[in-house]
Amino acid sequence: MANFVAINKKNITCPFGVKDRLHPNGHRGVDVVRWNGKSYTSGVVAKVAKSVALGNVVIVKDTKQDYWGYCHLAKVSVKNADVVKAGKTKIGKQGATGTAADGSHLHLTCGGDIDAVFIGKVKDPVATLEKRIAQEKEAKNV
Ligand SMILES: [Zn+2]
Repeated sequence: MANFVAINKKNITCPFGVKDRLHPNGHRGVDVVRWNGKSYTSGVVAKVAKSVALGNVVIVKDTKQDYWGYCHLAKVSVKNADVVKAGKTKIGKQGATGTAADGSHLHLTCGGDIDAVFIGKVKDPVATLEKRIAQEKEAKNV
């Protein structure tokens, strides 16, 4: 069973790294609309938090030790230490909590530790998912 599922690119409204009026220092994640509320990775819920900027946040630690932040959620459907399955487990509902200036969407971030979701080094969630999906495909063909 796959531990990672891709983001439907048609639903991406703001890619990673973009510098614009809303993100003068560069966009720290990817914005997704029409999100089905499901986890993009298998893993475990590492933290459920509330932040002034990011609103309701769920952080999932995946099977490769990366941390995924699901931000601006209107509703949270998991709790700390819950086991989640990629494409199956409902994380919550997209929303506009925190300073989501551009309306209801999922802001998804990926980093090497919990704090990276809020501040510090992050990486492109789309590229990271694509890399993991390719790795799993390769492992199956061995
Ligand atoms: Zn965003």
